[in-house]
Amino acid sequence: MKNVLFNLRENQLSNSLNHSVLYNAFDPLMISDYLKQINQKVTYLLEDKSKKGIDLIQPSNLLNIVKQLVNHDFKHKTVLERFSSIIDLHISTGIRVNSTGYMARQFSSVVPVAAMYDTISSMCPQPASFYECGPLPNVVDKIMAEEFSHFLGWENENFDMISTSGASLANLTAVTAARNLKFPDILQHGNLAQNGYKPAIAIGNDAHFSVSRIAGILGIGQENVILLPVNEQRQICIKEAKIELENAQKRGLRVFCIVASAGSTSVGAIDPLKELSELAHQYNAWFHVDAAHDGAFLVSDQLRGKVKDLSYADSFCLDAHKTLFVPAACTLLFYKNADYAHLSFPSHASYVAEEDEISCFESGTKNFECTKRPSILNLWVVWALYGRELFEEKLNYLVELTVQAYHYIRSLNDFEVLHVPESNILCFRYTPAGVPDQQLNRLQLNIRDALREGGQHFISKVDLDNVTALRLVMMNHEITISDVMDLISAIRKTTKNISIVK
Ligand SMILES: *Cc1c(COP(=O)(O)O)cnc(C)c1O
Repeated sequence: MKNVLFNLRENQLSNSLNHSVLYNAFDPLMISDYLKQINQKVTYLLEDKSKKGIDLIQPSNLLNIVKQLVNHDFKHKTVLERFSSIIDLHISTGIRVNSTGYMARQFSSVVPVAAMYDTISSMCPQPASFYECGPLPNVVDKIMAEEFSHFLGWENENFDMISTSGASLANLTAVTAARNLKFPDILQHGNLAQNGYKPAIAIGNDAHFSVSRIAGILGIGQENVILLPVNEQRQICIKEAKIELENAQKRGLRVFCIVASAGSTSVGAIDPLKELSELAHQYNAWFHVDAAHDGAFLVSDQLRGKVKDLSYADSFCLDAHKTLFVPAACTLLFYKNADYAHLSFPSHASYVAEEDEISCFESGTKNFECTKRPSILNLWVVWALYGRELFEEKLNYLVELTVQAYHYIRSLNDFEVLHVPESNILCFRYTPAGVPDQQLNRLQLNIRDALREGGQHFISKVDLDNVTALRLVMMNHEITISDVMDLISAIRKTTKNISIVK
């Protein structure tokens, strides 16, 4: 009798599950319908060759649209119809990284198979901080590290590489390791000063904002960030850097880390890495390079020379989600001395525990994240399927295209270029006759805004000291020089409608 009752209940339970939202959501047949939708939309996205910038929608309008997608009127539609509308909204509000009108930022069009693989990572999680739950990404970290060691000549070094979610985190992780090495008292006792010296870091004037934030996060204090002046090419100027470091020492500061850039965000300038590493050595400081943008040049025979001196760094990072074209965020953080990779988050336990085979592979003790997306797998899958050559071909093309754009824009009487491009970034200004100098900054800003409104071209602007410039970042290999010519015509045409004198 008891059993009968139990079975009855169980049947009721499974019947109600059979018709539940939960059951439907996991129905394998439903999944194949979702995939069909995705297939259709992504195929269209890649086939669409129209020139698009962004369609920047007012936040309040977008909020209303989003609200409608969950309200009752919308609920008479099927789940699939609603899914389709949501994907369309996503695509139409996003940046058009696959369009030839997109030259604005460092976000890249991704290699499609990497994005497809990312779905597998979502469906079958391999949280990458723990070997037990994420064996594949932990092993792949080692494989990718080895691939890069050849480009750096580090085969015989006791080096290490960990992957993080973004260069901002990688920069913070590395400078934290530097602080713990050079100021061990901070970690244990919170004592900031050491032998009367206060900790400080030195960074380039054009360092990315994630670098200037570090002092605040680590409790060093913004006023103890030494800004190293840049030269005309906007690279750290060694002569002036020496003076700044000397002055800092006289003021009772102990610079424990120098952070350089290989590919500054504004113009893509590469700091003099070898000289800076020597300077760091002289001051017994750690040398970190934020190579988020240009570190990827290591994979290209043609471009590697520009960043070969990364081999002098104690640590450096590169963003694979920028210049290796995989889904965000995927950052590689290298340490020349593997022992120092443990310094960011030293735990008592990790010193006590015997280093067994698994703990050697486990990345969780060396990075911030607990649950970590295994995004290194997206990079490795492309590497495994197409080889280094795919990245090399795309990078070489983008840098060549930027050099072509430089020569073309430089040849025009009504434009000026602000630097010789080192990478795929180019800053320039529109300087038509008759516009007074003091209004040129305003003009560039208005041009950027007007182009964005037009919806066909999306470029960015940058402020270099007191000069506002337009900025191109070439991330899409389908762009050609004729698209740059289109952009120039659009700038001239747009300016006719801008009243500069306000
Ligand atoms: C993009 C960028 C960063 C920030 O990296 P995220 O991956 O966005 O966190 C830091 N430094 C430089 C030079 C960059 O170009």
